[in-house]
Amino acid sequence: MSGMKEGLFVAFTGAPGCGKGTQARILKEKTHICHLSTGEMLRQFAEKDTPLGRELKARLERGEFADDAMIIEMVKSRISEPDCEKGFILDGFPRTLAQAEVLEDLLAGEGIKLNAVLEIQVPDEIIMERILGRYACMQCGAGYHDKFQKPKIYGVCDACGGTEFARRKDDNRTTVENRLVNYRLLTYPTIPFFETRGLLKTVDGTGTIDAVSRKIEDVLGLSANEK
Ligand code: AMP
Repeated sequence: MSGMKEGLFVAFTGAPGCGKGTQARILKEKTHICHLSTGEMLRQFAEKDTPLGRELKARLERGEFADDAMIIEMVKSRISEPDCEKGFILDGFPRTLAQAEVLEDLLAGEGIKLNAVLEIQVPDEIIMERILGRYACMQCGAGYHDKFQKPKIYGVCDACGGTEFARRKDDNRTTVENRLVNYRLLTYPTIPFFETRGLLKTVDGTGTIDAVSRKIEDVLGLSANEK
């Protein structure tokens, strides 16, 4: 189609802890397109000792969403950067119907057509166990889990040798319960929105990390050429 950008443009959606971030990082390794995590952007913003930074920090710790207008501005300026020219993986955006509607207009204006919106489905019981056990290397961000993904050497990051790890402040039971409620109330309505546009691809997210990433590659038609 004339005027449309060539590339791979996808969005990952699903409940907190479904594996969006993990799978987005794997897909980025494979395709070298840009990984855009709104949660990560917000956590960096919330570190700032400014009134806005402090307010955002408190919101995230309560499991509340950030303001639509703020998020939309962040995404808008990020996707127009050169490293997003050949594609991007939206991780955690859009998270509300308003964000989905704006994204649709924004992309149309940029000559971009989403290839797919991937919904990773995981039941709530599994989500809680996954989130409460996860932590990450403070140096390189590699993710681990108390039960499912321990470093090969206790206390040492497999990826970079770092020895300091951290858990997210919003990964506690009360906040996760809130995040799940917000997911159902605010994010779930985006599912039928993308379904009616023929973009929704549902992936079972309960298997191993490798199994889920293989399914995602199949859905995106990436397995045949590179595996
Ligand atoms: P995540 O890293 O994707 O789990 O996001 C962490 C938190 O950041 C979420 O629980 C929300 O509070 C906030 N957040 C991330 N993305 C968005 C978004 N697109 N809209 C509103 N809030 C967001």
